[in-house]
Amino acid sequence: MRREKAHMCDQCGRRFKLKWALSVHRRSHSNIRPHACNIYPKTFVNLKDLQRHLLIHSDVK
Ligand SMILES: [Zn+2]
Ligand SMILES: [Zn+2]
Repeated sequence: MRREKAHMCDQCGRRFKLKWALSVHRRSHSNIRPHACNIYPKTFVNLKDLQRHLLIHSDVK
């Protein structure tokens, strides 16, 4: 067994030493979308999707 944190969340890449900590963490993905736009009431599961979405605001100055 490796000594590094073995349990990685496949949705956000966070690593957890304990398997139960990962399963608790993963539950938050199913309920809450962690990446929220603060301009529109819009949320994204993936940070990449949010970053792409935020580009539409960058034209508005
Ligand atoms: Zn995660
Ligand atoms: Zn937005």
